[in-house]
Amino acid sequence: MNAETRELIIIGGGPAGYTAALYAARANLEPLVIEGFAWGGQLMITSDVENYPGYADGIMGPAMMQDFRRQAERFGAEFLTDDVTKVDFSEHPFRVWVGEQELAAESVIVATGASARQLGLESERLLQGRGVSYCAVCDAAFFREKEVVVVGGGDSAMEEAIFLTKFATKVTLVHRRNEFRASQIMIDRARANGKIEFVTPATVDEVVADNGQTAAVRLRDLDTDEVREIPAQGLFVAIGHDPNTKLFLDQLDHDAAGYLLTKPGSTETNVEGVFAAGDVVDHTYRQAVTAAGSGAMSALDAERWLAAREGHAATALAAERTG
Ligand code: NAP
Repeated sequence: MNAETRELIIIGGGPAGYTAALYAARANLEPLVIEGFAWGGQLMITSDVENYPGYADGIMGPAMMQDFRRQAERFGAEFLTDDVTKVDFSEHPFRVWVGEQELAAESVIVATGASARQLGLESERLLQGRGVSYCAVCDAAFFREKEVVVVGGGDSAMEEAIFLTKFATKVTLVHRRNEFRASQIMIDRARANGKIEFVTPATVDEVVADNGQTAAVRLRDLDTDEVREIPAQGLFVAIGHDPNTKLFLDQLDHDAAGYLLTKPGSTETNVEGVFAAGDVVDHTYRQAVTAAGSGAMSALDAERWLAAREGHAATALAAERTG
């Protein structure tokens, strides 16, 4: 191992990456976390987090990510606040580039997460965490006795709309087509729910704010082109997620949607010494706590893998000396 080769590089600065860093730092692996220019992941666009165990009074998403980062730093994790631009996992040590800077590592954990698809409206961006949300499980409880709009026509949109009816007085489900991508059983459940009104085919033209908070949503009827505004204190965008895996697709096994594949019960990818954790492998649970859990698993897997490798190297060296 040359001087510049790290034992472990972690790519990604969200709950999975920082938890991996905490575990790896405490195992003396001196990890480098390339946390991304916009570090913190999806929690940076949420407001209160009330379902992360340990924060009994809740915490703001960005503050929680700062806590995660600080805890890993306390044990010696180092951070590079920049984006990885290229990786080469074909040879050992693995190589990782940040622009022109080339780094090398014995092992790598990929924890680059997933991004919720956005509608792409400026008003949507400005009101993120102020009524605009991408996760009903996380934020529905803030909309007790309020009116909300859900956008999307897949299972997520149906599930989120149904879940939101536990809190909101009215849920308007807006979809751009009259046909839905969701499974029939989910559509039937949503249709049977008296609090859900379907508006199709329609799109969201604008999110309207009052005092910096979401107050209404402007909808465009795609049959008539008519625009109308409906009161809504919340807009839940449920149009799918994309894993942040573009850099790895030609080197790591992945499913049709681009999520990385790991061996069952482990965080090992198809490349020995490369591990993956968090939402980059998970399109089911997508919670900070589950991402953190798999981040811990990935650090333990990397640590064991490195120890076994060093053990082999020491045995080989001893055999060479005696032989
Ligand atoms: P999805 O199935 O890809 O559906 C995304 C929906 O958003 C589609 O209806 C799509 O419209 C719409 N959409 C995409 N981009 C849009 C845009 N820019 N503006 C407006 N609408 C847009 O995603 P998902 O619902 O998150 O589900 C992902 C996977 O997880 C699926 O395999 C799903 O079955 C699974 N899932 C299962 C469950 C469950 O079984 N309980 C729950 C959640 C998710 P078009 O249809 O017109 O393309």
